[in-house]
Amino acid sequence: MAKNGGHHHHGNKENCKKTLTGMSEYVDNDLKGTGKKSLESHLANCKACMAVLNTLKKTIEIFRVSTPRMPKSMAKKVRQSIKHEIAALEKKGK
Ligand SMILES: [Zn+2]
Repeated sequence: MAKNGGHHHHGNKENCKKTLTGMSEYVDNDLKGTGKKSLESHLANCKACMAVLNTLKKTIEIFRVSTPRMPKSMAKKVRQSIKHEIAALEKKGK
């Protein structure tokens, strides 16, 4: 799969989509093994996805700080809204 040369491959939108889809699982530490590895390696090369990850992490942190004892049901809601956000970002697809 890995070709020589051309590390910066613009227009690897397929990978971006995959990364964004797995992102919420990733921040949740639900992603394991190869899925996690390939996501991380994409993040290392893709500023756009990295930016999304940072935003996601910040959002989650804010929630954790402001709601220290978040009930499970609410945590689930937060996660769903994050997934929504990601889906919106995917649609933008800049
Ligand atoms: Zn990407």
